[in-house]
Amino acid sequence: METVEALWRAQIEEWSARGLRRTLRTVEGPQGREVVVGGRRRLNFSSNDYLGLAGDPRLAAAAAASLRRDGFGAGASRLVCGHMRAHARLEEELARFKGAEAALVFSTGYMANVGILSALFGPHDRIFFDRLDHASLVDGILLSRARWRRYPHRDMGALERMLAADRGGRLRAIVTDTVFSMDGDIAPLDRIVDLAERYGCLVMIDDAHGLGVLGAGGRGAAEHFGVEDRVAIRMGTLSKAVGGFGAYVCGSALLREILLHRARSLVYTTGLPPCVAEACRVGIEILACEPERRDRLHENRRYLAAGLKAMGIVPACTETPIFPLIVGGDAPAVSLARRLADEGILAVAIRPPTVPEGTARLRITVTAAHRREDIDRLLEALDRADRALDGVLRRGGR
Ligand SMILES: *Cc1c(COP(=O)(O)O)cnc(C)c1O
Repeated sequence: METVEALWRAQIEEWSARGLRRTLRTVEGPQGREVVVGGRRRLNFSSNDYLGLAGDPRLAAAAAASLRRDGFGAGASRLVCGHMRAHARLEEELARFKGAEAALVFSTGYMANVGILSALFGPHDRIFFDRLDHASLVDGILLSRARWRRYPHRDMGALERMLAADRGGRLRAIVTDTVFSMDGDIAPLDRIVDLAERYGCLVMIDDAHGLGVLGAGGRGAAEHFGVEDRVAIRMGTLSKAVGGFGAYVCGSALLREILLHRARSLVYTTGLPPCVAEACRVGIEILACEPERRDRLHENRRYLAAGLKAMGIVPACTETPIFPLIVGGDAPAVSLARRLADEGILAVAIRPPTVPEGTARLRITVTAAHRREDIDRLLEALDRADRALDGVLRRGGR
């Protein structure tokens, strides 16, 4: 045991020395434009609560009503006796909203991706995926044991060359994030779907950051590109714009049934507490019928983009509420985040292995809940922090 502990201690010291040690910060009270961390109020520019629904009293009320009616636990796996009325209603609402034949809910996005990919694909299959796909997709692909090829980020020429060079595989699939979670850019789904049709591939998308954010109806990236009926496997999460917890896949009734039999992260796990499913259902209803939240989100996004541009800071992308401000080194990214924290702003530094080596960044997210003056405060704090650190942001990590 002593030697193991010595190994662990050495590992943690090495992370510390490289500016890679991670810690948890405890948030008091609900999520929102402001959160309390360490007894101090901070403007929150780090959450994925894009529409400001995580702290919405209507979700809490739906959960509370369900708690009184349904109790807390689901008691068993969905396939045993843990599939409750709340799960069924959530899946019906999701399928209706997404215009899909069927929907299946998983406990988390991570579990959905691992479960879907390992259920549908095996050693005789081929999976082509983007180099910056989310870790849960990568883990699902590895677990499936399919033969895989990883294409350079959003590089459709490279993808087409790979598809042309390898025409084998019982099943063939292209798997991509829609909005890349640490970069905020959008996969060219229209071209991906064209290539998939030309080269006989299924398409699976992870729309975690697209749902509620993209598309006039908030139905996500496939709506944005007008390809909803050309993407066979549409996965997304309930933990971001919906303001809740859990994940779903939308597709055909047949897809749902296969996954119900074979997705091990669904079969061998307890159903979500019904109150979570009820709150998510209300989150989706609000997302669908309050488009003004999406309008406010994009107004805030444009306002922040213009403010940064005026300051001479050019984020790698401004198309979505995710603004990656690339710093490069891990230590400068952490100092920048610390300076912002001193000014009452929560903007967390994202370091490897979450992002590639040498591309540490501040990942700033705006939400519908932010006010103009919040964004002004962020811009002023960024300006001061950048000047104090010799313009590391204005150089964009170079
Ligand atoms: C957050 C996220 C997930 C994981 O979803 P959870 O519900 O938090 O487990 C999966 N894929 C992407 C792209 C994500 O951003």
